[in-house]
Amino acid sequence: MKITSIDLLKGAIYPKNPFKVSFGSHLRSDEVIVKIYDDDGNFGIGEASPTLKIVGESQGSVLDISSKIGSILVGSDLDYTSHIFDQIDSSIVGNSTAKAAFDIAIYDLMGKERKLPISSILGKYREKVESDVTIGIMNTDEAANRSLELVKSGIKTIKLKVGDDIETDVERVKAVRESVGNKAKLFIDANQGWSPKRAVSAIEKFSKFDIEFVEQPTPANDIEGLAFVRKNTNIPIMADESIHSPSDALRAIELGAVDMVNIKLMKCGGIHNALKIATICETAGIPNMVGCMLEGAFGIAAGIHFSLSAKNVFIVDLDSDRDSKNTLTSNGILPFEGCYRHDDGYPGLGNLKLNSEEVELVKSVTVKEGLTSI
Ligand SMILES: [Mg+2]
Repeated sequence: MKITSIDLLKGAIYPKNPFKVSFGSHLRSDEVIVKIYDDDGNFGIGEASPTLKIVGESQGSVLDISSKIGSILVGSDLDYTSHIFDQIDSSIVGNSTAKAAFDIAIYDLMGKERKLPISSILGKYREKVESDVTIGIMNTDEAANRSLELVKSGIKTIKLKVGDDIETDVERVKAVRESVGNKAKLFIDANQGWSPKRAVSAIEKFSKFDIEFVEQPTPANDIEGLAFVRKNTNIPIMADESIHSPSDALRAIELGAVDMVNIKLMKCGGIHNALKIATICETAGIPNMVGCMLEGAFGIAAGIHFSLSAKNVFIVDLDSDRDSKNTLTSNGILPFEGCYRHDDGYPGLGNLKLNSEEVELVKSVTVKEGLTSI
């Protein structure tokens, strides 16, 4: 089977509540959908959920780069998926979110051609995954009430965003712990909010609330700072924004900077690179979490399929579709039963229909061109 054409569409996801983290608030997430057609009438769908402050990509840049990547892939033989992934990776430096959309669409198409869910194509390790739910930075009472509601609904793990004012953050985490008692595990994610020294003193204050780990306490590019924090605190340290690629993971592990690594398809360029990071981490004895940006149903489904198959994934943070007003689908999302998520047995990503009301076709790529500049 060969790739005949690629449609690029744009849409937007709206969270039910503004989602605040240490570096800003999200009121909407502008997405790109990549739809890849083969010569047998099948198509695969991938989603890009770009974030300027983490990957440096926007909807506009993803559309532009996707047009270029698409023009390289038209005509490619889908039996040579490893070669296609190499073409995507080597097409341009960075731009992991645009690349992830192509990777996801290729896996979805592969699943539809072979009539298997992506998790079965990768090889399942587990039947279902437990996902946490993330609570953004908000006032203390609201966070405590929302956490209790979540626990009552079957959620067993809550991730709290911190990295704002330390005292306010401590009050909020304390209130949440008192609200949920011992019925939930708590994670905290500072999203690069602290300097290394500040992180050490902040983490000391949070340690009395039985926190499982602290995610990305320090700026993304300061791996030495992350190692300093890890050496001087007692709560496990997870890297998120610091790890985009397999080589980032290698370096962070070599420098003793991490106890755990958060893999996100939008940061690493999709499932094929996520597998590489998981293999590196597994070999080093470093567990993985799989996280998300603000993806709708398609991006989250890809994360779930990867999580079902990668042995080294111990924690899943795939919840953005649950807390959004829309998901770019007309028929729902992959199941979220209590705290558990799994595939729906349908080929590819699952029985997810693109909602034509929520997306707009920007461009169809039908001619093989390749990059025109170096
Ligand atoms: Mg994070």
